[in-house]
Amino acid sequence: MQPEEKFNKTIQSKLPQIDFRAHLRESSVQLKSKRDEAKTLYGNYELARLRASYTKWKVIENLDKFLIDFEASVVRKGGKVIWAYDVQNAQQEILQIAQKYSKGNLVYARSAIFDEIELKSFFDSKSLKLKAVDFSDFILNECEEGVFTENTPLLALDPQKVRTKLNSSIRMSIEADANEMASDIRQSIRKNFYQTDLAITGATFLIADGGLVVNSENSAASRMSHAFAKTHLVIAGIDQLLPSLNELDLFTTLYATQKTGEKLQSYLTVTSPADRDDIDGPPEFIVLLLDNGRSNVLAAQDQRQSLSCIDCGACNDVCQVFNYIGGAVHYQNHQAGPIAQVVKPLKSGLADYGFLSEHSTLCGKCTDVCPMKIDIHNHLIRNRRDAITEGVIETSERFSWYSWSKLMLSRKNMNRQSSLRNFTFKSFFRKQWGEERELPKIAEKTFNQLWRERNGL
Ligand code: SF4
Repeated sequence: MQPEEKFNKTIQSKLPQIDFRAHLRESSVQLKSKRDEAKTLYGNYELARLRASYTKWKVIENLDKFLIDFEASVVRKGGKVIWAYDVQNAQQEILQIAQKYSKGNLVYARSAIFDEIELKSFFDSKSLKLKAVDFSDFILNECEEGVFTENTPLLALDPQKVRTKLNSSIRMSIEADANEMASDIRQSIRKNFYQTDLAITGATFLIADGGLVVNSENSAASRMSHAFAKTHLVIAGIDQLLPSLNELDLFTTLYATQKTGEKLQSYLTVTSPADRDDIDGPPEFIVLLLDNGRSNVLAAQDQRQSLSCIDCGACNDVCQVFNYIGGAVHYQNHQAGPIAQVVKPLKSGLADYGFLSEHSTLCGKCTDVCPMKIDIHNHLIRNRRDAITEGVIETSERFSWYSWSKLMLSRKNMNRQSSLRNFTFKSFFRKQWGEERELPKIAEKTFNQLWRERNGL
């Protein structure tokens, strides 16, 4: 199925689900108000945004240097860095690591990048069992469901279904309240920690100077997963770098306030290869750096700023389109919402994914709330411009706009009978407007005709 067809099919199935949309809207409103409140904790929030966006700009403009610094630091401390060009390349590298370093006890603390490389389904296809150590991942796995949204993964789940599933898998009481449920799940998850050979985690940030991996989270899943593991594999994008530890306070606070509306998230773990004298920490430390089209975004000079994204999700919750359709899965990308609509077409080609940049009202709210000051809505326009320049829009669309502009520029045509104008309007926009909605009717008389009548001309 073509990407656009897949997108249309998924959203057509989501739009009639009134409950789904109500949940989505409710969670967006709550998160937005928490974020707004958290901004008031800053002495000067605008200055913090400015500093962060400048730092990321410096990283993106000198990405080659910072990546090599990071690799050199990790290797100097005894770790390994693997570069993966695309999804298949990453999957094969991870498979080799799993076969080499694990006797079957693999745990993972989910990160959005795992969805990008389809890690779970790839491991399933190789009959390798990945055990979840995060609360929500555990529930989603048991219920065989996907993530609802990155910030609220369980929001669409039916509590009764969760109880029934957990009753059969971990013998949790069907009457369990929230505390009992948490306790039963915790006990099941804990067993996985102690026997871990290989722990796979993502990263919130990578620190170039020092070869450090930073994870900011509320569940401690990432921290716990590699606490007992013999090997820690980190999967991160090449765009997740910060220059040094000096920037960490700024970025972790911006991340927490704009992701979940908190001052700081509960667990902040900074890790690197274990020193010989360290009494804990995995003996093997491997970082897989994923490109998968990020170099293409870097090559798009006007839009490369979009690589500054820290995946907080603030732009999603103010987006009218996202509030109707939700999750990353529709955007066929590890990010969702407006930023995915900029990045995915650049990563994977305007010809196949350029349609994503069209699904926006260009209201600019995403740009207003982005803590990294990414000019999201203007990047969407730039993507549209590039699609036209590269000639990847359909001939029928090109012809439609050509004819439309001819019509609109002719006063004679504009003043024709309203039935004729309604017919023309319908012919152009019926498909885009949707089968279920009535197109608005064009007024009987044009402004020009009314003006002439009023002034007796
Ligand atoms: S683009 Fe969206 S997700 Fe990324 S930093 Fe900005 S607001 Fe957050």
